[in-house]
Parts: sequence; C-alpha cells; structure tokens
Amino acid sequence: TTFEEAGIHPAMIENLQLCNYEWPTAIQCYTIPAIREGRDVIGIAQTGSGKTGAFLIPILSKLMGKAKKLAAPRPIITEDWDSKRHGVLAEPLVLIVCPTRELANQIFDEARRLCYRSMLRPCVAYGGAPHKSQREELQKGCDILVGTPGRILDFMRQPNTLTTKRVRYTVIDEADELLQADWEMDFKYLMSGGDQNEDADHRYLMFSASFNKECRKLAENYLSKDHVRIR
Ligand code: AMP
Repeated sequence: TTFEEAGIHPAMIENLQLCNYEWPTAIQCYTIPAIREGRDVIGIAQTGSGKTGAFLIPILSKLMGKAKKLAAPRPIITEDWDSKRHGVLAEPLVLIVCPTRELANQIFDEARRLCYRSMLRPCVAYGGAPHKSQREELQKGCDILVGTPGRILDFMRQPNTLTTKRVRYTVIDEADELLQADWEMDFKYLMSGGDQNEDADHRYLMFSASFNKECRKLAENYLSKDHVRIR
C-alpha cells in the first residue's frame, strides 16, 4: 500500500514527500491501520526499521484532521514575551516517553519534520539540561511532548507548566528498558498520575526491539485487552 491508500492526511502526505519517504516501511504497513482503528499496540521492531514513523505518522495524521479544534492554545510571542507572565499551561495530546536524551532528540527531530505542514507543535523535555529553555518552549504551546520520565514529571509538578489531562496517545519507546526496576516508580506514576486523562479514548502504544515474557506481562498492565502485537 501507499501512504495515500492507507488514508493518511494530505498534510502528512506532503510532509512525507519533504522527508523523501515514498513507501511505508514494513512495520509502518501494520501500525498505520491498527492505530487508525484506535487499537493499543505492542510494536516489536529494531531501530532503523522506521519505528519512529510507525507511531508518529498515523498518530499525527489522525490529529491533523482535527488540529483546528484540538491544537493547544498559543500565546502571541512578542519581544517582551515572558514565559512566567504570558506562558500557557502545556496540555499535550500526545506523550512520547523514552529512556534517553539522545533518543528523545531523535524522536523530536522526526516529530518536527512530520508536523511541518500542520498546526501541531512538538516539544522535548529531558534531564541533564537546564529547565528554563525547555519550560519556555512548553509554555509557548505544546501538542506533542517527547521526553524522559524524570523531566516530564518535574514539569508536571511545577506550577502552570504541564498537565497530561488532555493526552490521547501515550507512546512508550524502548519499553523493555522503561519497564525495568530503576525506572518503574517514575513510570508507574506517569502512567497512572494524578492528572491522567480519564477519557476512554486514551490509547497506549509500546515499542521495543525485544519484549521478553516478563516485560510483556508488565506491558499488559497498561494496554487494553484487545491490543495488537506487531512484529
Ligand atoms: P527509526 O527506525 O525510526 O530509527 O528510523 C530509521 C530511519 O528510517 C530514519 O532515518 C528515518 O528517517 C527513516 N524512515 C522512516 N520511515 C521511512 C520511510 N517510510 N521511508 C524511508 N525512510 C524512512
């Protein structure tokens, strides 16, 4: 199938052309219809397989159809713009969680390219860097947030910065790593945190190069019973 035949939004088709993506990769051929149908997904795929596009393309395409209605409020940025006085509360529709800053930046770059012809605005948040500039970007309006769990939680705990109550898609990348013990506390809080979206429309997607039995069991705590497994 082509991206057009898969029902991808025309604005996304243009972005894909700008990226020189002519055909969906193998994993994308399966995730695009599953995500369009609103299923939860476990995706088992190596880096290099087009795994990032496998969740970004269908999710962003879906949101592009509704972006006018859904896009976050945007402050008007003037020369004397001050995030503390003029910034808005970031209310992303998509939360993409991954274990490292490098991966967060890679996913963020791809999200920027795939949001190019749209009203959707991506942001990134990771530890080991100052809060200030990341917070300012969030407070300029954020529809798609990519980040590591610790920093995302930091921002959720700061006043007037970030809430996950409008999130419709939570994507966990390198899920096998995030489901491991040293991340588990932050991760559990994020997945069931105080300002979780109660909406039944909230979809969960987990991607990883491998899922051993134990990870699969942990992952299934978060996924709906009718989720699809794509390898
Ligand atoms: P990933 O597996 O997400 O790390 O992606 C690996 C590489 O494939 C990245 O450089 C992407 O830009 C590229 N890519 C993703 N989807 C496609 C596609 N449909 N056609 C061509 N290249 C792609």
